[in-house]
Formats: sequence, C-alpha cells, structure tokens
Amino acid sequence: AKERQDGEPALYDPSMHSSLVERLALEAELRKAVTDQGLQVHYQPTYGIHDGELAGVEALVRWPHPERGMIPPDVFIPLAEQTGLIHELGRFVLREACFQGREWATLSPSTALSIGVNVSGKQLQRRDFAGEVSQALADSGLSAEHLVLEMTESVLMNDTESTLRTLEALKAMGVRIAIDDFGTGYSSLSYLHRFPVDILKIDRSFVERLSGTDAEDSLVQSIVQLGQTLQLETIAEGIEEPGQLLALRRLGCTMAQGYHFGRPGPADVVSRLMVESAGQ
Ligand code: C2E
Ligand code: CA
Ligand code: CA
Ligand code: CA
Repeated sequence: AKERQDGEPALYDPSMHSSLVERLALEAELRKAVTDQGLQVHYQPTYGIHDGELAGVEALVRWPHPERGMIPPDVFIPLAEQTGLIHELGRFVLREACFQGREWATLSPSTALSIGVNVSGKQLQRRDFAGEVSQALADSGLSAEHLVLEMTESVLMNDTESTLRTLEALKAMGVRIAIDDFGTGYSSLSYLHRFPVDILKIDRSFVERLSGTDAEDSLVQSIVQLGQTLQLETIAEGIEEPGQLLALRRLGCTMAQGYHFGRPGPADVVSRLMVESAGQ
C-alpha cells in the first residue's frame, strides 16, 4: 500500500477502497438488522461452583445474516460502537433480556436467575443510560436485583464524573455491576474502591492456563482472594475442562460459566434447564 509521509495510508489505495466499501455495506446491513429486528439474543448459563445449581445467564447478542451466516459479536460490536448504532443495539439486548428474565421468574418463582447484560463504554457515557435501565425494568417487571450489568475495566478507567454518577444511580436502583474480562486491563485496581462493583468475572485467558500446579494458578488465586477481601462474587469464564473446574473450586471461586456447562443458546434451552432443575 502507498503511504503518505506521516505513515497514514494514501486515500486512493485500491485495496483500502474495497475494504471501505465492504465496511459501508456491513454498516448499512447492521443498521437494517438493528431497526428491523434482525438481531437475536442467546443466553449462556452460569452455575454456583460448589452446589452446581443454575444461578443465572449472560445475554449475548447474535446476528444471523442471510448470506454471511452467523456474524460473531466481536465483528459487529466494534462497528456498532464506531457508528453509534451501539445505543439502539444495546437497548434492544437490555430490554429483550429483561423481558425474558421476567418470563423465567414467572415460570419458576423459586429459581431467581440473575440476568447478565454486556454494556459498552459508549452506552455508559450516555447521560440517560440509568434512565434507560430503569425504564426497561419498569416495562418488563423484572426486579432490579436480578439484573447484572457487565462492563470491562477500561470502561471504568476513563472514570469521568458522569460514569460514577451513572453507576451510583444504577446501584441505588439495586442493579449489580460486574467487571468483565477481569485481569486483562492495565488496571491500578483503584477503581474497585471508587466504583460500586459487585462481581469480578475472571477472564477466560486465565482459566485456560489453569494447570493444577501452584505457580500457574497463583494469578487466579490472587484474583479470588481479592474478591474475598472486597466481598465480591467471582465468576470464572470459559471453563472447558473438568480439571479447570476442580482447580477453581479449590481456589474458592464462587461461580462458573463455560462450554463445559453449556454454550450460549436460545431462551427455550434455558427454560428447559429450569424445568429440569425444578423437577429434581
Ligand atoms: P464476553 O462478554 O467476554 O462474553 C463471553 C464470550 O466467550 C462469548 O462469546 C461466549 O460465547 C464465549 N464463551 C463462553 N464460554 C466459553 C468457553 O468455554 N470457551 C470459549 N472459547 N468461549 C466461551 P461471544 O458471544 O462471541 O461474544 C464475544 C464478545 O462480544 C463478548 O465477550 C462481549 O464483549 C461482546 N458482546 C456480546 N454480546 C454483547 C452485547 O449485547 N453488548 C455488548 N456491548 N457486547 C456484547
Ligand atoms: Ca460478558
Ligand atoms: Ca468476559
Ligand atoms: Ca471477552
């Protein structure tokens, strides 16, 4: 590719032209999917690590594309953030998850599933975000205690006053806050004191490396201990092997999620799980 003196690619680079066209096409299709109900929400269960009981779900957005098949969120979430579509997309997932959570609460009142929803930094920066959450709870009838909003460390690192105000408003409603991909940011941890955090989700990259040997596991152990010290719940993400589960249980982690237990799937898969666990 031709480069200008400052290292930026030249504007007339033909390879860049085609990728720009591609990107614009994808953007137009995403816009259409967001407005025409072309997105879906799948749910992945989380379990108590000691009792093995179904404890909650995480809502994960899906884009079934007529020609390209299932487009993964890692591709279209960044695009949605760059184009501002993330607000409408995020509102859709939040409302869908709240209504579904309310349906599950009615289906099995004794199983209080917590409903995790991923929130992008862009959404959180919006002044009316807490109001949007409050509206979704009011419209759906889901109680605030059942909603967990998952956000990454980087969102809290650009800690503006307005982020703090929003999180405090959510906290006052009774909504819980989880730090997603915990341990992957260049974090000073000081935000854990500043922000009303309830849950640490230990990133899959750490779970992957669990070996059962003390040296390898000490990193996860220190995260779990941090959680215990601050009285936070710890959820391990991406458990695929029984050995990882055993190690995490031994280290004192409280909750578990991953393909070992179940992949994300449509809501009725979770409904069936609830009926099964109620019938035991
Ligand atoms: P995340 O929030 O860290 O979600 C966990 C991802 O790991 C999901 O990928 C899930 O399917 C996958 N996963 C769960 N268990 C395992 C396992 O045992 N092994 C492996 N290899 N993977 C596992 P997914 O659904 O493709 O989502 C990717 C990311 O896209 C999410 O990472 C999240 O950052 C983002 N995302 C998904 N849905 C939303 C949404 O509604 N809003 C926003 N803002 N972001 C979303
Ligand atoms: Ca998440
Ligand atoms: Ca995560
Ligand atoms: Ca992740």
